[in-house]
Amino acid sequence: MALVAGLLSLGSLAAIAQRLPGGVTPTNYTLWFAPDLEKETFRGRETIAVTLAAPATAITLHAAEITFGEVTISDAAGTQPARVTLDEQAETATLTVPRAVGKGPATIAITYTGVLNDKLRGFYLSRANGRKYAVSQMEATDARRAFPSFDEPAYKATFAISLMVDAADSAISNGRQVSDTPGPEPGKHTVTFAPTPKMSTYLVALLVGDFVCRTGSADTTPIRVCATPDKLGLTAFALAAAEQQVAFFNTFFGIPYPYEKLDIIGVPDFAAGAMENAGAITFRERLLLADDKTASVDVRIDVARVVAHELAHQWFGNLVTMKWWDDIWLNEGFATWAANKPVAAWKPEWRLDITAAEDTQTALGLDVLRSTRAIHTDVSTPAQINEVFDPIAYEKTAGVLNMIEAYVGPEAFRKGVSSYLEKYSTSNAAGEDFWMEMTRVTEKPVNRIMKSVVDQPGAPVLSVSSRCVSGATEVTLRQQRFVGAPGAVDAAKTAAGQTWTLPVCIKTGGGEPTCTLVSEREQTLRAPGCGAPMVNADARGYYITEYDPAAVAALATLTPPLTAPERISLLGDEWRLVAAGRHDVGTYLDLAAALAGDPTPAVLTEAARRLEFVRQSIAGASEPERFDAWVSRTWRPVLEQVGVDPSPGDDEDTNRRRGILWQLLAADAELQARAQARARAYMADPSALSPTLAAPVLQVAAAGGDRALYDAYLLRMKAATNAPEEFYRYFNALGSFGEPALVTRTLHYAISPEVRSQDTPLLLEQMLGTPAAREAAWTFIQQEWAALTAKVGVFQAMPAIVGALGNFCATERAAEIRAFFAAHQVPEAARSLTQALERIETCAAVRERQSAPFRRWLAGR
Ligand SMILES: [Zn+2]
Repeated sequence: MALVAGLLSLGSLAAIAQRLPGGVTPTNYTLWFAPDLEKETFRGRETIAVTLAAPATAITLHAAEITFGEVTISDAAGTQPARVTLDEQAETATLTVPRAVGKGPATIAITYTGVLNDKLRGFYLSRANGRKYAVSQMEATDARRAFPSFDEPAYKATFAISLMVDAADSAISNGRQVSDTPGPEPGKHTVTFAPTPKMSTYLVALLVGDFVCRTGSADTTPIRVCATPDKLGLTAFALAAAEQQVAFFNTFFGIPYPYEKLDIIGVPDFAAGAMENAGAITFRERLLLADDKTASVDVRIDVARVVAHELAHQWFGNLVTMKWWDDIWLNEGFATWAANKPVAAWKPEWRLDITAAEDTQTALGLDVLRSTRAIHTDVSTPAQINEVFDPIAYEKTAGVLNMIEAYVGPEAFRKGVSSYLEKYSTSNAAGEDFWMEMTRVTEKPVNRIMKSVVDQPGAPVLSVSSRCVSGATEVTLRQQRFVGAPGAVDAAKTAAGQTWTLPVCIKTGGGEPTCTLVSEREQTLRAPGCGAPMVNADARGYYITEYDPAAVAALATLTPPLTAPERISLLGDEWRLVAAGRHDVGTYLDLAAALAGDPTPAVLTEAARRLEFVRQSIAGASEPERFDAWVSRTWRPVLEQVGVDPSPGDDEDTNRRRGILWQLLAADAELQARAQARARAYMADPSALSPTLAAPVLQVAAAGGDRALYDAYLLRMKAATNAPEEFYRYFNALGSFGEPALVTRTLHYAISPEVRSQDTPLLLEQMLGTPAAREAAWTFIQQEWAALTAKVGVFQAMPAIVGALGNFCATERAAEIRAFFAAHQVPEAARSLTQALERIETCAAVRERQSAPFRRWLAGR
């Protein structure tokens, strides 16, 4: 699954065991569904072929929001009716028969009805263009809402699926369509799909409606990209990406694409970013449908990466599946890592090595909290399982794999992956199975590295001291767990027992890196040549590096310079040292200023978000104007050099830097006025701005915008319903308007029927990230709690919304949030709440620790 950008999560609850008792193993499901779109229900018939390990009078399987009809169990001795007992809390049904079912094969037959819900889970209802669709999202634990099932990933079986749907509707499922016959009921037709290879229940896909598709192929696999009819024109880019990627992965994994066909479907209402259902991948429209002529490069990269992520899962996740959700990192971290491979081969100019360095920073942002979790975390309930789809599973694991790949070499790593997939094909595996196979193939101690990073929570910091000894650099590294808050010394001490085994690669004087395995608390290494050592060469290591402030300054101005990923890593690490109170904030601000003219947009972005934090949380209390003046003196000349206004022939990176600088300098009244004029020109003629610049200009204009501008945005947004990128440019900008009456208007709009429930959390997150809207958004969430939860449910949206409350920066606010959620319990967001509270308390402590050093530093500017 791919998440929507911005989702955070995590929780440690008293769990009610919801695991099935075992002893009964499904081998095949034959499933028939008849959705009734008008009544928003469905009928189902299923037969499950099972094998019993011992005779039994009761069989327990999963079911939720299912109404059972007739149930029978057949074995060699005959067929007997079963009595059904439901356990709502455990989401199970127990089928009991008078005579024990014999050991060996048996068949369970069930007729039932279910609900096409509006909560984006299981078999659910979606709407577009005035008509209804029935679509599905089973991961992690919602297949049980579509059909009674052994709904755990280790119970792999084959699935033979057919759907009886309205004559005007088409149907898509995992298998290739083998027949389409009229009836049997009037006004209906029945579509039957080929049985799937063995797979887990969470990968079942059901889609019903007037989907239309663009067709292509790769090697021997037919490929279709499908959407609602109005959006067929936006499917060409994703199809081209999928064709290249399937062919790439066929070679890369050394195993052909494991299914008979590939469909990729844009779904109008979709909670996650995308879902890797075997052979029938589903997507949020915004991440799939892009205009081949006008889409911005950022949207193209998003689409290509997410398609590649879901395709990588067809092998890693679908063909070989984790035994249980505690190893979800095996799926998600791997897919995140692997997605960059075909895309980098396809478009090297997109610099996915820089994206990978940014992803590592995303992971560290969570991993420096005391309330982070280990990559491997025990989970039991659906709420707990839902919350481990987080940056630890995705970006941290990808960063760790990236580190190991750099250490063993890309070809050895690829061979290890291929060998693992071969060995566990159509079966299940656990984390240690993966790293033991990698260790065997690469003949390097991958097992030691992975065990240390997978089982221990948190991120290590390597503190560096170095000296030049007869033409070589002697580097001493001390490691401990990093806790990213001032005054966390005690916590760091209690975690002092933690050490990691890490491949550390050091560059001196711009030469080739020297790599060593570091596992001691203190270890001294030698690198050839003298000069400031870069202790995380190419930013491939998953750790924080602590240099003394003089070394930080020296690294910023090295000749030849650090690589772009290294500069991102240097900025990220230095910020964390400031946040932890180990360095004064001035060291960071001087570093950011030294990199002000950096040609790489991502480096500028990394600095800009910290400058915004300093502005809001440290300077805000004392001297915002003087800080703004310093920012303007430092970055305005860079904007002048890049060009304040676009000119024909500007390349992509120029436009990206321009957009970031406009946002950074948005406090400037003249620039604000210019953004408003540019936004109006863009609304009159979209060719007036490059696609890359449109979103930042609309955001900056919104921040100072009035009601007339707001109304104009709304109008343009509503006219753009068939072009997701254009729609979300305006939609996201609504959350940036700061005028109180407009903030209130946006909040009411966010929970109104006009906004798809999939988008409500995005808007609220945006507003909780905007200082002018934050207070009002929090008050609104409390006041409208019932309406909000009725609209979005708690399951998908709440971890994101609760996580965004972590943008506050006062201990009283943390107390208030804690009290509110004590009275309004959301187990689905328990971990997210703990982490949000820690972020708030950390921010308050950073302000306390850095205020005086900040004033001293500013006085010297
Ligand atoms: Zn995924």
